Amino acid sequence: MTAAGTAGSTQDEVRRHNVSTLLRYVHVHGPTSRTELTSVMQLNRSTIGALTADLTQAGLVREEVPARARAAGTGAGRPSLVVCPRPEKVYVFAYDIGVDYLIAARVGLGGSILDRRELHRLRGDYALEDVTSHLGRFTAEMLGRAEPGSVCVGVGVAIAALVREDDGQVRYAPNLGWVDEPLGTALADMLGEYGIKARIAVGNDGDLGALAEHVRGAAAGSSDAVYLTGEVGVGAGIIVGGEPLRGYGGYGGEIGHTVVNPAGRLCRCGARGCWETEIGEKAILDAAGHPDGPRSTVSAVVAASAEGDPRALAAMRHVGEWLGIGVGNVINIFNPEVVIFGGLLRDVFPAVEQQLRTTLLTTGLAAPREQVRLVTPGLGADSTLVGAAERAFAPLLFDPIEVISGLTAVAVD
Ligand SMILES: [Zn+2]
Repeated sequence: MTAAGTAGSTQDEVRRHNVSTLLRYVHVHGPTSRTELTSVMQLNRSTIGALTADLTQAGLVREEVPARARAAGTGAGRPSLVVCPRPEKVYVFAYDIGVDYLIAARVGLGGSILDRRELHRLRGDYALEDVTSHLGRFTAEMLGRAEPGSVCVGVGVAIAALVREDDGQVRYAPNLGWVDEPLGTALADMLGEYGIKARIAVGNDGDLGALAEHVRGAAAGSSDAVYLTGEVGVGAGIIVGGEPLRGYGGYGGEIGHTVVNPAGRLCRCGARGCWETEIGEKAILDAAGHPDGPRSTVSAVVAASAEGDPRALAAMRHVGEWLGIGVGNVINIFNPEVVIFGGLLRDVFPAVEQQLRTTLLTTGLAAPREQVRLVTPGLGADSTLVGAAERAFAPLLFDPIEVISGLTAVAVD
């Protein structure tokens, strides 16, 4: 971690950079002693003290005497104070919009989920107004339970779609049936009714899943990682050299729509034989002989395969093979250190791992194949939700004092 700033920076720029680094550290790692911060940021004690004072005054952190020192009484010398983020005072709203579910959460600084609401629905296309109305209800309920004086510093939204990040316009969401829906604007209107003026960031679910796993999950510390999210469709988020791969317009990483089987099924995107038509929910249910089953049927198929049911075993073999083909392409192109199987694939992966690895022997080149770890998400089912929260916290973590003073001024108006 570098904290000293570049040569030629003004003192103010260096201070901003250091305030940002310190807040980001306690946001990701939790309560941290001043001694440890001095060591990881390579700054002296008085500088750490001054930075902590700035953040304390802004209401973003508080300092505590460590519990052990408290128990030892006053004779134990002067203990190093512990710097703690203040989740109860500073939070974001995170929304995860799936093809057949909605999740809304209030997430505190430091990453803890303080409150959440979920709605699981029958599959099918549904309108933007339905989504904003459900999310509005959830938001009102959670606001009512927030601590008085607390402040919402951002809103993050994950959706299985191609998203224009500037304004949160959903350009294309084949499995929702959405083309050019103004999600960002609609959410801004809804949140405005509750007096929330924080910035709204809408992102692709795969990208945000990758972000969350990179910050605090199975890819923490990895510079190159691929997060796959299998639902009705299949998406991905890709980290290259420690940075998200975006593409020119932010639409990169649509691995689910790479064509792997030109003789296969028609995809919702209009192409034939996309990877998601071989490993998505519908492919699994078709192969298992339950073409119209609900989402929960996938778990039942996985369980039946463990008990030796021939049809379920055949379905898992099918998915394992096609996962091996697609993951072979992924590792040949990106040479990731880790591939994470999220969403529905989180349940499926353990049942198909052996088949996947066997296929990978013929599809993945030996050099990158030998380096890759294949794992399920460190954050369980919450990767995309947590990623939405992390995206929402990003402006605050980049320039804490500026953002919090801007929002506090708004709150006073
Ligand atoms: Zn497709």
